[in-house]
Amino acid sequence: MAEPNIGDRIDSYCGRCKMMLAHTVESIEGGKIKKCHCNTCGAQHAYRAKPPKKIPGMPAVPESSDYDKLMKAQDPAKAKKYATSGRFQPTELINHTKFGLGIVLTCKESNKIEVLFSDGAKTLVHGR
Ligand SMILES: [Zn+2]
Repeated sequence: MAEPNIGDRIDSYCGRCKMMLAHTVESIEGGKIKKCHCNTCGAQHAYRAKPPKKIPGMPAVPESSDYDKLMKAQDPAKAKKYATSGRFQPTELINHTKFGLGIVLTCKESNKIEVLFSDGAKTLVHGR
């Protein structure tokens, strides 16, 4: 395969448009594309060869603006208390002593979860 060059047109996932779109390569490190910008909305971001894994009803790229929308479908009384020793699944509602109520978006690696709180997504550990 040919080495990528700055200025090349490349397909990447755009977090703002939330779909695979034509992008332009902006920087390369070690023969790999680091940054690109979306030809549609102009957003500059890291190169993403594939769209993030989707969970039905969950935003692919969580933003704090999604929080209210997701919280509406949740019952705060059913929130599980967050502890690093707990085990959490995507779409579960958790109650964190510091960050408050959050919704589990994805499980990363074996002991990390990405959780959307009112002030944005955070990575927490679980299953310790
Ligand atoms: Zn875009």
